[in-house]
Amino acid sequence: MKRPEEEAAETGRLSEALGPIIEALEAFSRYEGPDPAGKAREIWKKVLERPLPEQGAGLDAVIRTLSESVIPYGLRNGAPGFCGWVTTSPTTAATAASLAGTVAGSQRFWIQPFNYLERLALTWLGDLLELDPGCQGTFSSGGSIANLIALGAARQHAFEKTGRDPSREGLPAGTRWRIYASSEVHHVVIRAAGVLGLGRESVASIPVDAAQRIDMKHLRAQLTKDRSDKILPVAIVASGGTVNTGAVDPIEEMAALAAEHETWLHVDGAYGLFSILDERVAPLFKGVETADSTAADPHKWLAVPVGCGATFVRDGDRLRRAFTLVRADYLEGSADETEINSTFDTMGEIFHDYNLEQSAPSRGVLVWAILHEIGREGMRRRVRRHNDYARLLASIVQDDPRLELLAEPVLSICCFRYRKEGLDPEALDDLNLRIMRRLRAEGIHVPSTTRVKGAFTIRACYINPRTRRDAVEDLAKTVGRIGDSIAEGE
Ligand SMILES: *Cc1c(COP(=O)(O)O)cnc(C)c1O
Repeated sequence: MKRPEEEAAETGRLSEALGPIIEALEAFSRYEGPDPAGKAREIWKKVLERPLPEQGAGLDAVIRTLSESVIPYGLRNGAPGFCGWVTTSPTTAATAASLAGTVAGSQRFWIQPFNYLERLALTWLGDLLELDPGCQGTFSSGGSIANLIALGAARQHAFEKTGRDPSREGLPAGTRWRIYASSEVHHVVIRAAGVLGLGRESVASIPVDAAQRIDMKHLRAQLTKDRSDKILPVAIVASGGTVNTGAVDPIEEMAALAAEHETWLHVDGAYGLFSILDERVAPLFKGVETADSTAADPHKWLAVPVGCGATFVRDGDRLRRAFTLVRADYLEGSADETEINSTFDTMGEIFHDYNLEQSAPSRGVLVWAILHEIGREGMRRRVRRHNDYARLLASIVQDDPRLELLAEPVLSICCFRYRKEGLDPEALDDLNLRIMRRLRAEGIHVPSTTRVKGAFTIRACYINPRTRRDAVEDLAKTVGRIGDSIAEGE
């Protein structure tokens, strides 16, 4: 039957469309055989490369192309042997919640469960991470924005002390200011300083100690010197798990120093703060409950779909002053609670005054789904397992004379390399780079790389819920085997 022109044919037919997609996703998620995406790029590109069509190909064609030419070549950062960077793909409950949110919660506003879950999930997440329950939380797209939001609140705090509203009036001429972070801080913190108008150069890069933690002596000296030079401290940033090695800065000492200088303490716990659940390393995070702001990324260890970071700020009013949308005539204020007869009578709990985004996907439902499914205990088990994997890998490395540990695991990261007598540092770096290339080409184990104290290192970071112990053992074995074969060939 022909549909009337105004009835959009492109709506409905959801189960019909999702059937083949889910089948293709199930097949993809088995991660069988070698990863085809890189080598076969000409195949999928040939199917996809088309000019904008004048006449649409229809829903069936979209579903077919997705199932046959997109999904099978998708990103395998959820495969059990993937342990690179700090990323993974979502678990089943989070995937289901994501689809639910896309269709039934496509905005986080108004009186409806997705708005409610935004708050509930922030409360649960704050509780999970042992933060002060009085914090104002807000979800954003990830650690980049979560840190920027926190530093926006820090900027508000610093300049309000001087009698200026930086959000309204901008930054003053003739004043100098500074943010303090270790040389291991994530680059998004430095970019955030740029975006906030503070300038990338305002971030003082404080040296680290042998354990890659901020050197408190240097930090203290820099703050004291800056005080006498009348430089306004905007924030001290503690890394609650660096991405290079998982080092955790001495948060409690930094909090005390921040208090002494009447400045803001921000903790970037995007990756590492979930480790507070592992009582063996929890003491490292002591003091985080007193931080002025904290960032954590549910799209990392919690394994919700990418696009979910969280910021918690103790002084919610300050955060609102930094980011308020002020008033928009087309966004009606809230109705009296007793007068709500429609979902749309009030915006519900408002988050856009604490954030950079107005329209935003429902992210609370994702965090809620995982915590509802596995609870604090399930998450604790996941984190402990992953921290154990890093230690297991380190001990295998230490028992193998061909391998060398470059950083003792603190959380779930292990940095190691293949070594060979008689090679200069550059040749050793090069050998390990070649091992990495071969490792990736084989496609079973995908760690990433970094430099520790200047040395090129293979870096395994365990946050992937699909990884098992045998993958950890096999990674060390495989690096040994590939290293031997390359070293012998020379
Ligand atoms: C991942 C990460 C970031 C950046 O977060 P994105 O989610 O990639 O934007 C910042 N800081 C730390 C410590 C991180 O682990």
